[in-house]
Amino acid sequence: MRKLYLIILLLSCASILKAQKLLSPKEFLGYELGDRFTRHHRVLEYFKHVADQMPNVELISYGETYEHRPLVYTIITSPENFKNLEQIRIDNLRRTGLVEGTPSGEKKVIVWMSYNVHGNESSSLEASMLTLYDLANADNIKTQEWLKNTIIIIDPCINPDGRDRYANFYNQYFNLPANSNGDAREHREPWPGGRANHYLFDLNRDWAWETQIESQQRLKIYNQWMPHVHIDFHEQGYNNPYYFAPAVEPFHEVISTWQREFQMMIGKNNAKYFDEQGWLYFTKERFDLYYPSYGDTYPTYSGAIGMTYEQGGGGYGGLSITTQEDDPLTLKDRLIHHYTSGLSTVEITSQNANRVVDEFEKFFHENLNSPSAPYKTYVIKAENNPDKISSLTQWMDTHAIKYGHPSTGKVTRGFDYQSQSPSAVNLTTDDLIFNIYQPKSRFITTIFEPQSKLPDSLTYDITAWNLMYSFNLKAYALSERINVGKSYQPKSVENVSVTGKPYAYIFNYQSLKDVAFMATLMRNGIKVRSAEKGFSVNGQNFDAGTLLITRRNNESVNDFDIKVQSIAKEMGRKIYTSTTGFVDRGKDVGSSEVNYLRAPKVAVLFGEQTSSLSAGEIWHFFEQQIHYPITQIGTDYFKTIDLKRYDVLVVPDGNYKMFDEGTLDQISAWVTGGGKLIVIANGLNAFAEKKGFGLKTYTKESEKTDAEKKEKELKEKEALTRYEDAERKQLSDGISGAIYKVMLDSSHPLAFGLKDTYYTLKTNELRYGFLENGWNVGVIKGKAKPVQGFAGTRINKKLDNSLVLGVEEKGQGNIVYLVDNPLFRCFWENGKMLFANAVFMVGH
Ligand SMILES: [Zn+2]
Repeated sequence: MRKLYLIILLLSCASILKAQKLLSPKEFLGYELGDRFTRHHRVLEYFKHVADQMPNVELISYGETYEHRPLVYTIITSPENFKNLEQIRIDNLRRTGLVEGTPSGEKKVIVWMSYNVHGNESSSLEASMLTLYDLANADNIKTQEWLKNTIIIIDPCINPDGRDRYANFYNQYFNLPANSNGDAREHREPWPGGRANHYLFDLNRDWAWETQIESQQRLKIYNQWMPHVHIDFHEQGYNNPYYFAPAVEPFHEVISTWQREFQMMIGKNNAKYFDEQGWLYFTKERFDLYYPSYGDTYPTYSGAIGMTYEQGGGGYGGLSITTQEDDPLTLKDRLIHHYTSGLSTVEITSQNANRVVDEFEKFFHENLNSPSAPYKTYVIKAENNPDKISSLTQWMDTHAIKYGHPSTGKVTRGFDYQSQSPSAVNLTTDDLIFNIYQPKSRFITTIFEPQSKLPDSLTYDITAWNLMYSFNLKAYALSERINVGKSYQPKSVENVSVTGKPYAYIFNYQSLKDVAFMATLMRNGIKVRSAEKGFSVNGQNFDAGTLLITRRNNESVNDFDIKVQSIAKEMGRKIYTSTTGFVDRGKDVGSSEVNYLRAPKVAVLFGEQTSSLSAGEIWHFFEQQIHYPITQIGTDYFKTIDLKRYDVLVVPDGNYKMFDEGTLDQISAWVTGGGKLIVIANGLNAFAEKKGFGLKTYTKESEKTDAEKKEKELKEKEALTRYEDAERKQLSDGISGAIYKVMLDSSHPLAFGLKDTYYTLKTNELRYGFLENGWNVGVIKGKAKPVQGFAGTRINKKLDNSLVLGVEEKGQGNIVYLVDNPLFRCFWENGKMLFANAVFMVGH
């Protein structure tokens, strides 16, 4: 007995000693949380300290950002759970069906908390430290009780590059004491602000598309854990109080009753703590659950209770800001609110652990056995471009979507994405199929369903994003279930070894991978040509746009043949060769209609007045998608540079005041002399109706009167709008992102590799007339009606017979007008091809 007593005494001394070593954030940092903005590396040091001291905390690195800051997550649970952690994780995956087998251990809930996805919503990172401290602290009886059945994952900072951009800004400009006056420099971040990541992407729009390395690395871990609850911490305008779940309609229909119910329970528990303190908050407003690429919807469609929490503050907040009620809102207030809602969510989840786990299991049981969405199977025909299929399957792998080939072919019926109507489907065993009887069932539905039900058209974001249109695939949605019969066999490129020294190498130009290949050749100093028309040689047909690399003009390239062949092999390109320049059909290799593509020197406007998102998308496209160098030119010194040093100038989406008459004359003269100007979306406004540019905001007079009449009728109707319906009235003017079918002039180089149609993701209301002296390469013909998504009635009328893609030839140069942003969030595959054509193909 005595011996046992001694052991217990020793053990408890040891735990006290250990607990004493745990420092609070204040003790560790040397200042009170909220007194300063803590830079990211210091926060990581604190996390490391806690993990080093505590047996119930583990810190794991999961990669790094573009600017080489570490990405980490922390697991906090009871020491007992740590012993079985792998078992708990696998059991959870078994409940989802992502791993085979039956769960054997006790039921444990997994709560994942993500902080600071938007870098300048800066109280998050500070709150993460306090939250960690209280969860890890062995003396905190309450939290230690929760840890018995709860695994907590904290990602302290999803977006370290943006967070430090903000913190560095603030730490340079703060007043002493902090100035609460919103006029002060410290409250006004310079362009581009700290919200986005290095490439200026909004990481809270990127969960599904995973275009950024932060998302790619995080999603890997996310899918290894599949949490039951996910909180994404944000901030909104500083005059707003706090927002937490439940969210507001529209809710996508795949969201389960339980997911709605538990959001409500969580919200009520949060409310309890906020009420106690008298803090203001709101729920069931503004933040919906629809667009699938957010930090709340993506987890929701993956079975979690996914939520956004929003504190008032944001980039304006600083250490203290005076609100409209003449009250100071401090960083301390903001972080305490996030800390409170975080812990409250852990509490209510822990208290309902068994139910949460059971319902989670039920969600996946339904996915595997009785998914309710009307379309059960998706078919992508084998004849689609193999690069597009492989990009799509790679994307599916990252989301753990299962796919393959059917075991037998058959003739059936389904929704045809090309005609947007029901049609016969000739299913073959080479086609790629995936059905919704699988763990990621609901996510699949939200991405691929032909029409999504929008129970309420007021939403926070775009209303359409279907990847079948992004890739423009020959594909079908079937209401019947067809199972995968055999695993997917990608079409591999068979290259016979090249003999001798061919007259020319020939490569297809049909996909973004072909673009990247061309860019790599150019970067290696290899001269490339492109056939303006289709041709045949050696019995092989080639489309317009096909790349030709002739021996002539490449004599100065060392190891020319080895270089071309090895780059082609490395990039999986099929090598065709010709021993002659004499073609069987079309224009000979030496023809002037086989254009020499000079590797362009590309300048991109960057800075104030450009949309930072668009400027970032262009930057990311060149550097990360096709690895081609660009020069970004600041809008503040644009006038001082010599444009003649560049072949291409890209003007991103933006709101421009810099294009005065002199600047426009300068650009106009440069284009006439052989420059190529590419203008995107709202950038077009700066050039429309201006001297030297053929872009017009409106077309025919007759159409105008007709439109004016309709406009008048609508206005009369709207004059009677009830006050409470005001938000809805605005909607008929707006477009929240919808997909339209665009007829292409496939003979124009801007359309190379895209064939006759292009589906455009329209996110603005810009309307321009057809170019009178230019090529109307892509237009909406006749009545405008979205193929998918929501657009206000008035908008559709406005878009009838309107320009989408235009090219104006001017002297030796060209202007490419892209009315819709083809690089929007970087997930519109054919948009990227289109943009590449504008840069490399147009005007040779
Ligand atoms: Zn945010």
